[in-house]
Amino acid sequence: MKFAGLRRRLSAISGARVRTESWGGIVHLRRPAALVYVNRGLLRALGHPEDPLWASPTPGTAHRAPVELHWTLSRRCDQKCAHCYTNSLPQAPAFDPADAERVADALSAAGVFQVALGGGEPLAEPGILIVARALRARGILPSTTTSGAPVTPDLARRLGDFAQINVSIDAVGPAYAAARGHDRFAMADAAVRRLQAAGVRVGINAVLTRHTFDALPALLDYARERRVSEVELLRLKPTGRGRATYLEDRLEPAQAAALLPTVLEAARRRRLRVKLDCSLAPFVYQHAPDPRVLKFFRIHGCEAGDSLGSLDAEGRLSGCSFLEPVAGDAVSVLTRTWSTDPELARLRGYRDAAPDPCRTCPALALCNGGCRAVSVHLTGDPHRPDPECPRVRTHAEGSARDDR
Ligand code: SF4
Ligand code: SF4
Repeated sequence: MKFAGLRRRLSAISGARVRTESWGGIVHLRRPAALVYVNRGLLRALGHPEDPLWASPTPGTAHRAPVELHWTLSRRCDQKCAHCYTNSLPQAPAFDPADAERVADALSAAGVFQVALGGGEPLAEPGILIVARALRARGILPSTTTSGAPVTPDLARRLGDFAQINVSIDAVGPAYAAARGHDRFAMADAAVRRLQAAGVRVGINAVLTRHTFDALPALLDYARERRVSEVELLRLKPTGRGRATYLEDRLEPAQAAALLPTVLEAARRRRLRVKLDCSLAPFVYQHAPDPRVLKFFRIHGCEAGDSLGSLDAEGRLSGCSFLEPVAGDAVSVLTRTWSTDPELARLRGYRDAAPDPCRTCPALALCNGGCRAVSVHLTGDPHRPDPECPRVRTHAEGSARDDR
């Protein structure tokens, strides 16, 4: 946004949230809803008081706290989906809503802007409305993802605190059952319609597997027909129940290579907003896309432990919901030691000490080495390059040939 435009907006919107960072700060505009990254000079010009973080003449690039936090409210769910990343079950640990105010206070103190409430089935948790209200009261935007099972017309009318609710639909028709192990497409579709009827902004979350890839155009047709606000495509992760069948279910290399051209053409033809999940970054960057394409898909590489954090159902903090928790009390890491925790620092600092072939990759600054969750599953080390990245595959094949 241009300087004059931003100044007009800031002066027009009293109480815009500003979180200072070493390079300047992040401004949360309400209308249009946006997080705007601004430098020190601009914040000074806008009258923001001097901040101790600005004392160093060389600003860093790391965030001092998560911008977005994924909060797993529970691992309770009776859907038994085949690749559930949290291994959710009908009886499982859940967050105690009596703690909602305390955790919301900590997130506010840390400067978190957005919280995605997950599960399990978050909308089946009686405390979710209390949590959403506590977050809203502090200017934090809550969103959530649901299978659709609990969404009655009555519940849909009580979800006004949510900025957006995504319904999990990996595919339409028979491919839905192939992906999830049961056919509940009609249930998910009913949830989309009920939420929209209640005025909720609705999106779709779709996990890509080799079984659903060819059904993607049909899913985007459905999304267009329902006029959902966006479709987020996610890479399958080898966590929870997804771990056991990961090798059989993950995208084939040819599908991964075809992903960007396929989705770009399909999204443009349908005039649909499509977001690509961070873990798909290596498949996107292999095409050296135009920056406008990256902006269109709102894709960036691994943000674990930098602008992204996660709180699990047991109250433990990690750099991303697919990674192991770090040591220590979650609230105190969030509010005091996010910048200095050694595991989080190593995750966000991958690009500073990247091994080959990431070290010489033109996309390193954006990609940050691919998905750490895939790396740890396939190599045992979250700090290795993502083995499914095409460039990493080629490098490994070359090394294997040299060894022979
Ligand atoms: S080589 Fe590394 S940095 Fe480059 S795209 Fe692949 S995983 Fe990302
Ligand atoms: S480990 Fe990184 S790339 Fe993978 S899902 Fe988490 S934030 Fe995204």
